[in-house]
Amino acid sequence: MKLNIQNSFTEELPADANLENFTRQVHHACFSWVTPTKTKAPKLIHVNTKVAEDLGFEQDDILSPNFLNIVTGNTIYPNTSPYAMCYGGHQFGNWAGQLGDGRAINLFQVQTTKLHTLQLKGAGKTPYSRTADGLAVLRSSVREYLCAEAMHHLGIPTTRSLSLSLSGDQVLRDVLYNGNPEYEQGAIVGRVAESFIRFGNFQLFASKNDKTTLAALINYTIRTHFPNLKENDTDSYAQLFQEIVNASVTMVVHWQRVGFVHGVMNTDNMSILGLTIDYGPYGWLDNYDPDWTPNTTDKQNRRYRYGQQPNIGLWNLYQLANTFYTLTEDAKPLEKALNSYKTQFEAENLKMMCAKIGVFTPNKQDYILIQSLETNLKLTETDMTLFFRLLAKATTIEDCIVAFYTPQHLKGEILAEWQAWFLQYQTRLEQETLSKKDRIAKMNLVNPKYVLRNYMSQLAIEAAEKNDYSLIDELFTLIQNPYDEQPKYEKWFAKRPDWAKHKIGCSMLSCSS
Ligand code: AMP
Ligand code: MG
Repeated sequence: MKLNIQNSFTEELPADANLENFTRQVHHACFSWVTPTKTKAPKLIHVNTKVAEDLGFEQDDILSPNFLNIVTGNTIYPNTSPYAMCYGGHQFGNWAGQLGDGRAINLFQVQTTKLHTLQLKGAGKTPYSRTADGLAVLRSSVREYLCAEAMHHLGIPTTRSLSLSLSGDQVLRDVLYNGNPEYEQGAIVGRVAESFIRFGNFQLFASKNDKTTLAALINYTIRTHFPNLKENDTDSYAQLFQEIVNASVTMVVHWQRVGFVHGVMNTDNMSILGLTIDYGPYGWLDNYDPDWTPNTTDKQNRRYRYGQQPNIGLWNLYQLANTFYTLTEDAKPLEKALNSYKTQFEAENLKMMCAKIGVFTPNKQDYILIQSLETNLKLTETDMTLFFRLLAKATTIEDCIVAFYTPQHLKGEILAEWQAWFLQYQTRLEQETLSKKDRIAKMNLVNPKYVLRNYMSQLAIEAAEKNDYSLIDELFTLIQNPYDEQPKYEKWFAKRPDWAKHKIGCSMLSCSS
């Protein structure tokens, strides 16, 4: 086992001088040194060989006990020192102060063709664990492990999954927060990203007016992740902010494209590289419902509902702009970047929605066609994934019938609305130059055939809780090629079954993970 370790984050940024592992406020430091907690009986459930190879692990390494011990925090890779990052964040619209990696521990950074950080989620308490245990349970770990890979193969920027393991320890969780805690199997996900820096890492120092540490972190970010920009230069800082705006727009447009709802878009869960990060109570739209959120904690306000994600992306960037302002003291370029969010989002979103319906030369009127499509999708429960996939080949709206949860509703006024839309749509398609065959092929590259529906993960979890990991294997294979026809897996190209409509884990999730 020989990895090309390059720990720039810990070598170049200030560390917390206190080496003890107890909950505390940390000042003037970007991270605290912390050792993962040893686990009782670690066991690998799944390894993502491709990501392992990207990091420099060889096939023999992956099969070795050493690998299992590293990805469960029981062995520390030679000459490395694990650490937890210090960050803050706005949670549900309010400044929450210091948060930090409460149950994530970074093991090391590796340089290959790019820089990777390997992080364990659920490997024990850190100085940022506050009142919680630093652990994760099997159900939420399966969800994170599979979903990050599903997103990656859909072409969406995300953290990656390396490994899914059982710790062998029992973890107490009150799933519904209703006073019925139960023991569940503890698990650890090894996850990888070029960087795990969040909006909240920058925000925390601005909130304390610690400009020195803020500048150090921003300069590190520039040096390491945006080498085209200059350190110690306020214009470059504003450009960095613009880069973060651009990356965030792209990420959110992708989420809207596939019907992914993050569920907890707090600023501590927003990556400065525009990666989808922290898979908690996320979900996928089954029926197209812009008001849907999977997160029970957010049931009242639905702040993080599907249709609101673009606005929340901007709200979060406003908070980050305030942070940058403490260093640049020039609002103009930051405002310009914020204003560009709206124009970029509108343009990219229209282009994306047009591509979903096979319009590849969008014009200014197309948004009307898209708007009436969105209105129609809500007339009666319509499955988003099935609808767009079937639309490619449809010659009448009835060809999409299996996308409707209650097909018998497709009559009377509802049918008339759909037929009117379909007619307009056909007329619009006539202005396109692509052949039908090419149009279908291009539509199939933006409209996935298979997404990781909420009930699918739930089935994999229920089996895994009984020590049967075959469905994890199957879904892991399925999600590698979400845009391809996979006749073997045709059963997953189907609407959510009725039993899943209101089931916990399938329709609603709590933050308890
Ligand atoms: P999240 O909502 O998962 O993004 O978490 C928000 C904050 O709570 C982060 O600082 C997490 O590290 C922390 N946190 C969440 N769950 C736990 C846990 N079981 N133990 C310790 N800290 C946690
Ligand atoms: Mg988080």
